[in-house]
Amino acid sequence: MTARILVVDDVPANVKLLEARLSAEYFDVVTAESGTEALKLCERGQCDVVLLDVMMPGMDGFEVCRRLKASIGTHHIPVVMVTALDQPSDRLQGLLAGADDFLTKPVSDIALIARVRSLARLKMVTDELRMRALTSREIGFDDPVRNALADTGRNGRVLVVDDRNASFERIARILTAEHAVDVEPNPQEALFHAAEGNYDLLIVSLNLQDFDALRLCSQVRSLERTRNLPILVIADAEDNARLLRGLDLGINDYVTRPIDANEMLARVRTQVRRRRYTERLRDNVQLSMELAITDALTGLHNRRYMESHLATLVQQAAARGKPLSLLLLDIDYFKSINDTHGHDAGDEVLREFATRVRKSVRGIDLACRLGGEEFVIVMPETDMAVGGLVAERIRRRVATEPFVIGTGGKTVEVTISIGLSSLIGAEDRAEHLLKRADQALYRAKRDGRNRVVADAA
Ligand code: GH3
Ligand code: MG
Ligand code: MG
Repeated sequence: MTARILVVDDVPANVKLLEARLSAEYFDVVTAESGTEALKLCERGQCDVVLLDVMMPGMDGFEVCRRLKASIGTHHIPVVMVTALDQPSDRLQGLLAGADDFLTKPVSDIALIARVRSLARLKMVTDELRMRALTSREIGFDDPVRNALADTGRNGRVLVVDDRNASFERIARILTAEHAVDVEPNPQEALFHAAEGNYDLLIVSLNLQDFDALRLCSQVRSLERTRNLPILVIADAEDNARLLRGLDLGINDYVTRPIDANEMLARVRTQVRRRRYTERLRDNVQLSMELAITDALTGLHNRRYMESHLATLVQQAAARGKPLSLLLLDIDYFKSINDTHGHDAGDEVLREFATRVRKSVRGIDLACRLGGEEFVIVMPETDMAVGGLVAERIRRRVATEPFVIGTGGKTVEVTISIGLSSLIGAEDRAEHLLKRADQALYRAKRDGRNRVVADAA
């Protein structure tokens, strides 16, 4: 997706210039000639990154930035202050107003594109997190995502690769105020070190004495363990050509010597935040994948998972001529457990039943809650005789030991009925297997419950 950049400057010529350069890099550009106009566009959610001129009549850039950062609807939009004077005091004031980055006029192409690209990526992950925050608030666990969005980018773990003492000492001194910093003075060791430590950011000096820093960057990008580790490069002013190659290799940002401490801290914070956001998103995706295939009450697999996986297991068994058995289990008179002891007690019985099922099957067996008080166990490499033994064992485990409900030590007797079916020949299908187990279960209920009935086919 193309990021949309809002350029704010009271001088039309400046707007035109930035617009042209950004458009050439295929960014979408919107423009505003005053702070008020810029605030309106941002409130409407119409941009991903703001390039904000500091000196404007009426509301100046600092004030616009403060207002953007104070509003819940706009505080996540990255703001780059564009300062005419390269005054450290301007930068400090911008930082205090909550600016994410700085550019100094005249703005160099390389700086412009690097900053905007880096912040647009950050915005994309925060948008994703915000969307999930909205969804997960509906399901009732909003905290992890909200915490992520409140991340200030401090207390990161940073590895500095630099073989010149004076240089890395200064960098470490600046960063230690906000982060845990390790220094690796030996570039040969750096890749290994980066892969082993759990870092949020790698800082590499572009001018190492006897190692090609770009080679290191490219190795970091190609190694599985470090592929997603952000890289910030420290360059000398005359390094433009190598810097461009670095940006092509996938470095995320850079600072130029002499290093301005506030600028360095701001850039490091941005990278650390983005790293943490993406890590959290990744965890989150894993969690939602698990949620999608898990039954929330019992922790067993759900119907959806069973349906897709049973088909695979049946095909595999049929293709290899291996046996496979399936149990359909249903709690007897469960409605009356609910009616007598309450719905919560019913839930407790379901959970305890799931625990007993888990203890009774092997790791390769697939245990699922189909819904209500109905369960399925699929047993690969298991013929009907063995399947019958397993079913009988589970039935006994339930019937002989009453279920504890509530905290007062009250118990309830539970029994289950089980229908058993096994794969017949290479032409058999998952749905037929389920159907035959269902018919057997029906007979088990009809013949008096608390029993196992095997399909006769
Ligand atoms: P049978 O022996 O013929 O299986 O009788 P039964 O009462 O077990 O079967 P029926 O299908 O009539 O009732 C099942 C009950 O299970 C009805 C429903 O309210 C209850 N139930 C379904 N899902 C849940 C649940 O998640 N928690 C609880 N506590 N009860 C549930
Ligand atoms: Mg039942
Ligand atoms: Mg039922």
